Amino acid sequence: MPEQRDDCLFCSIVRDGAYVARADGFVAINDINPQAKVHLLVIPEHHVDTFRDVGEFSAKESKRMLEFVADTARDVGLTDYRIVVNVGRGAGQTVYHLHWHVLGGAEMSERLPASVATAEAEA
Ligand code: AMP
Ligand code: ZN
Repeated sequence: MPEQRDDCLFCSIVRDGAYVARADGFVAINDINPQAKVHLLVIPEHHVDTFRDVGEFSAKESKRMLEFVADTARDVGLTDYRIVVNVGRGAGQTVYHLHWHVLGGAEMSERLPASVATAEAEA
């Protein structure tokens, strides 16, 4: 198991949570507060605080992570969808373990998720 943090919500979800999809090193879960009909979070087991630290992943891990995002979206039936990563507090990041929002489904807003829209409005 790659580096884990005892005090990290998403590290504990990766270890013990109910997931929609799992591959070696990655899980996808339903967001507890969905912003679209389908709102998944793809979470790597390897803890890094934010996307800024993505360089800590090997090239192979990075490729597999992106493929897992695409495979998960396809496997839940999405063809058109939005991928969002909030990077830092000013962009709406609230959980400091890298995660990819997968937003889709018929009820997806044309607008960006509220946290991203708010950050843009404040910029
Ligand atoms: P962000 O604001 O980009 O850091 O995204 C964090 C996301 O995690 C938010 O969309 C929350 O709704 C979601 N979230 C927080 N706690 C949980 C949880 N226990 N299970 C599933 N999703 C969660
Ligand atoms: Zn973590």
